[in-house]
Amino acid sequence: MKIPVRAASHSYDVTIGKGILKEAVTALNYLFAKTDKIVVLTDENVWSSQQHYFEANFPYEYHLHVMPAGETCKSFENYNAVQTFLLEQKCTRKSLIIAFGGGAVGDLAGFVAATYMRGIPFVQVPTTILAHDSAVGGKTAINHALGKNMIGAFYQPDAVIYDITFLHSLSEKEVRSGMAEVIKHALISDAQWVEELLEGDFVTKLPEETLVNYLAHGIQVKATIVEQDETEQSVRKFLNLGHTYGHAIEAAAGYGRVAHGEAVMIGLLYTLLLSEQYGKVNHQFTKRFLHFALENGYPFEAVHDFTFEQLTEYLLKDKKADYGQLQFVLLDTIGHPFVQKVELEKCEQIDQQLR
Ligand code: NAD
Ligand code: ZN
Repeated sequence: MKIPVRAASHSYDVTIGKGILKEAVTALNYLFAKTDKIVVLTDENVWSSQQHYFEANFPYEYHLHVMPAGETCKSFENYNAVQTFLLEQKCTRKSLIIAFGGGAVGDLAGFVAATYMRGIPFVQVPTTILAHDSAVGGKTAINHALGKNMIGAFYQPDAVIYDITFLHSLSEKEVRSGMAEVIKHALISDAQWVEELLEGDFVTKLPEETLVNYLAHGIQVKATIVEQDETEQSVRKFLNLGHTYGHAIEAAAGYGRVAHGEAVMIGLLYTLLLSEQYGKVNHQFTKRFLHFALENGYPFEAVHDFTFEQLTEYLLKDKKADYGQLQFVLLDTIGHPFVQKVELEKCEQIDQQLR
C-alpha cells in the first residue's frame, strides 16, 4: 500500500506492508541510481535482531554504521561520530542515508542528512510502531542537555519504506509505546476509529492485518496534516495532543524508563480531563479511556514518582510554552482538536485530579 505525502517542500510516498522491503527498494531504483554511496545508519538492537532480513532483502551495496540504541543515539557526541563516519567514507552530496530503526535512529539520521554538506537525500526504513509517526512528516532532531529535540530541522525524507516484518522483534513495552501514537492519531481525527480501538483487542495482541490498517490510517492522518502545515504554524500542533504533559513525565523519569508513547498515554488522559473543562468531552468517556489504558498495561503509577512542582519545570520548557502560560492541544469533541492556553493553576488542579 502506498500513501503519498505532499509536503510543501517535498513530496514522497510511504510504502507499507508485510515483506515489502526488497520490492519497495527496487522500485526506488531511480533514487538509488543517482547516488554514489549508500550509508545505512542503524542501532545495535535493530541490527542484532533484523540484520539477517535486511541483508537478504536490501539489493544494493552499502556502508554500515551501527550506533548505540535509544536516546543516546540522539546525542551531540553521536551526531558528531556519524558525521565523522560520513567524512571518512568520503560521502558526497550524491550520497544517500538509510535510517534503519525506530524514532531515535530516524530523528538522528534525518538531522545528519539535513546538515551533511547542507543536505543529502535520505530514506526512512522504520522498525517500530511508534515510527509510523516519527518517520513521516520531516521533523528531525537531536537532544541538548537543556532539552530534548531542541536542535533540529524540518527535512523530509525521499521515501519511507515500512515493512511490518521488522515489528516482530519489538518488546511489549515498545508495542504499547507505539500504539499510544496510533491512539493519538485516532483521537484527533475520527471518533468511530477511537471506539473501534477502545472496544478492540489488547494493543499488544492486535491481529497483523488490523495493525497494518491502523498504522496506514495513522500515517494518513499525519500526512494530511503535514500537507496543510509542514512547519507547525497551525494544524500541525494538533499532533502534539498528549505531548505537553507526556513530555514532562518522560523527562522527569529520565528518558527510557518510561517509553515515549507510555508517557504520551498518560498525557492523553491528562488532556481528556482538561478537555472536559474547555471542550465537550464527557467524564464517562475519560473513565472508559482510563480503564482501557490500565487494562493495556500503561504505567500510570509513574505519575506518583513526581510532584507537580517537579513536573512544572519540564512543562515550562515545552516548545509551545509562552512566557509562563502553557499551550495545550485539547479536544472539543473526540476527533476535533483545538489549541488552548491554560494557566498553571488550572494545570495543577488537573494534575491533582489525575493522581
Ligand atoms: P527508539 O528508536 O529508541 O526505539 C525504541 C527501542 O526499540 C530502542 O531500544 C531500539 O533499539 C529498539 N528497537 C527498534 N526497533 C526494533 C525492532 N524492530 N526490534 C527490536 N528492537 C527494536 O524509539 P521509538 O520509540 O521508535 O521512537 C522514540 C523517538 O522518536 C524519540 O526520540 C522521540 O523524540 C522521537 N519521535 C520523533 C517524532 C518525529 O516526528 N520526528 C515523532 C515522535 C517521536
Ligand atoms: Zn510522540
